[in-house]
Amino acid sequence: MNYFVKTFGCQMNYADSEKIHMILIGAGYKKVIDPVKADIIILNTCSVRQKWEDRVFWFIHEVWLYHKKNDTKQKPLFGITGCMVRKTWMAKRYIQNDAYQRSQIQDISLLHSEDLLGNYDDALFLRSQEIDFTFRIEEVSYLTKLLTLICNKDIGNDSKFNEYLAVKQLQENPASANVIIQTGCDNYCTYCIVPYTRWREISRSIDDIIQEIQTVVLSGTKEVTLLGQNVNSYGKEVRKKLWDMKELTWIHKDVTTPFRELLNHIDAIDWIDRIRFTSSNPHDMTKDILDAHVQLKKMCNYLHFAMQSGSNSLLKRMNRKHTYEDFKAQVEYLRKRDPLFSISTDIIVWFPGETEEEFQDTIHAMKECQFDFAYIARYSPRSGTYAYDAYKDDITPHEKARRWNTLNNLLEESVLNRSKLMIGREEEILISGKWRSNGWVGRTRNFKEVYISNESNVAIWDLVRVHIHSLDGWNLQWILVS
Ligand code: SF4
Repeated sequence: MNYFVKTFGCQMNYADSEKIHMILIGAGYKKVIDPVKADIIILNTCSVRQKWEDRVFWFIHEVWLYHKKNDTKQKPLFGITGCMVRKTWMAKRYIQNDAYQRSQIQDISLLHSEDLLGNYDDALFLRSQEIDFTFRIEEVSYLTKLLTLICNKDIGNDSKFNEYLAVKQLQENPASANVIIQTGCDNYCTYCIVPYTRWREISRSIDDIIQEIQTVVLSGTKEVTLLGQNVNSYGKEVRKKLWDMKELTWIHKDVTTPFRELLNHIDAIDWIDRIRFTSSNPHDMTKDILDAHVQLKKMCNYLHFAMQSGSNSLLKRMNRKHTYEDFKAQVEYLRKRDPLFSISTDIIVWFPGETEEEFQDTIHAMKECQFDFAYIARYSPRSGTYAYDAYKDDITPHEKARRWNTLNNLLEESVLNRSKLMIGREEEILISGKWRSNGWVGRTRNFKEVYISNESNVAIWDLVRVHIHSLDGWNLQWILVS
């Protein structure tokens, strides 16, 4: 039996897909890169924007069309997981008039905590006749059980998996490992569906994480990226006891948080060269976490954390718990210690009711913070969120286009300015892939992508020292030093 997995959305989803690969390969399935050759297709979805949801149905339709046109008789099973799924269901099929029909949609209820969810319907089944099963990603460890029920034959052995966070990931890139340390979110930003799809925050134990990292190091990992919806609130239960989060601002929180403790442990593991994490929030940021970037040898000088807006009134309507002043102070704190410290962020443009003044605050923030990169997201109303019901999307399409273009132009300017600072520097890069026929691409410690068009003395996953000599369009160019 062949399988194919397609992933939409963020790095966390990609890490979750690695778990799906591990389970299916363990159950004896063979991975294929062409979806039309698969017996089972699993789509790991993203709900943050309507566009991503539409793509899921478009993909299913395209594969279905292929099989119909070619009369292949090989109808794959379609499974959906990720943020579009609220509940685990399966459908049975039967043949009528030479065509597969679906019937008996069943709620599997593998986990019994659905009380926390706001939406229990099986709307996904109504949107496509081709979907055979859905499962919440937190129920990934039950995947073989679900397939056993659908296919009516014993598939794999669940006993080797226990719970979502403990399911191992398939590491396709041996030099670089994504390690999930935390999942879920308690923040309830008004525009975001994640707290309803991923539920409450849960952190893995330090021992489990360290054990996983020690294992991947043995297979050649040099770079570890810690993943979670809110990595810097890792160990939230312990954090709560440390201080009253409401009374102090980040700079006063002179404590050692569980996340910093975790970073200290990882820094002490031999053979790891680089540590990064994503995604973090300004309101959960503490001085000890920012200091880790300069105090710990293996921490990279790069941080992604979400500003979302430069306007405090808009941040309040978004239910973000930081102010722009706090965010800016954190950026300055890092850049003062290292002017080349790279910072990337997320920004939402045209949030409902965004006034010209609020938009100007974001322009001002972008000029002040000089981001190395930013994901500028067009606000996408998501049913089930507070903003969907409470705020009216009242910005004209013309104005939306103007605002997005203005921010994008500013971003291009700051990306170029920040890249120019790298010219003339000697840096260590980790080679991550081929570029053009004889070239290579790699990343510096501050997450800049750098390119060379011809170099035969390096190989993939090498850590090498290079001289960055110029900027060709958007691409920094390097020559080998050692
Ligand atoms: S912090 Fe806000 S934007 Fe991020 S996952 Fe949680 S609710 Fe969503």
